Amino acid sequence: MSKNKPAKFKLTVDFQCGSCGALIHQAPGAPPEKAAAPKFCPRCGAGMERFCLACRKKADMFFEEWWPEDDECIRTYSPAKRCGSCGAILEPEKKTDEGDWSEA
Ligand SMILES: [Zn+2]
Ligand SMILES: [Zn+2]
Repeated sequence: MSKNKPAKFKLTVDFQCGSCGALIHQAPGAPPEKAAAPKFCPRCGAGMERFCLACRKKADMFFEEWWPEDDECIRTYSPAKRCGSCGAILEPEKKTDEGDWSEA
C-alpha cells in the first residue's frame, strides 16, 4: 500500500446508478464492509446488479474512493461494466427493441 490510510476514518458509502447517475446513500449505521447495494435505482428503476450473459456469473460492483479530508473517505460503488470472470462487456440495460421480425 503506497497510500497511508489513517487507522481510524469516517467511511461514507454511496452507490451510483449506472443508467441515470443518481447517487444513493447507504443507510447510516450499516457496516461498510457489507455494502448492501439497492437492487434497483430509486430514481429510474434500473437494476443495480449486473449479471454476465456469457458466463452467467454475477459481476461485483466496483468502487472509487475519494478522500475529502485525511480521515474522511467517500466510497462510491457503481455497477460493473465488465465481467470480472470472463471480461465480457456488460450491457447496462437489456433493450427490448430487437427489431420487428415478421414471419415470411
Ligand atoms: Zn437510475
Ligand atoms: Zn462473464
